[in-house]
Amino acid sequence: MSDTVIFLLIFVGFFVLRGVAATVVFFFLLPEGDRCPNCDAVTLRVQSSFLNRLLPRFRTSWCYECGWHGMLRQGPLSPVAPSHELTKLP
Ligand SMILES: [Zn+2]
Repeated sequence: MSDTVIFLLIFVGFFVLRGVAATVVFFFLLPEGDRCPNCDAVTLRVQSSFLNRLLPRFRTSWCYECGWHGMLRQGPLSPVAPSHELTKLP
């Protein structure tokens, strides 16, 4: 094997490893669940057929309190507030 091939294998290998390491780090940096990372309010799930199909383990979200929008990891959802039950008709 020539020196050029060895150099290219090592160079491409480190390039791919850098991408894999960055992906893993950013995956765990994303918050889990449905809480906004800015104001800790409950976010709403936004339908994005392309992103949800491309990244099924993520949740595209929008915070109606502060306007933040982004992706969150799938996780436990916040329970529905009891005040919503007061709006039900008897
Ligand atoms: Zn927010």
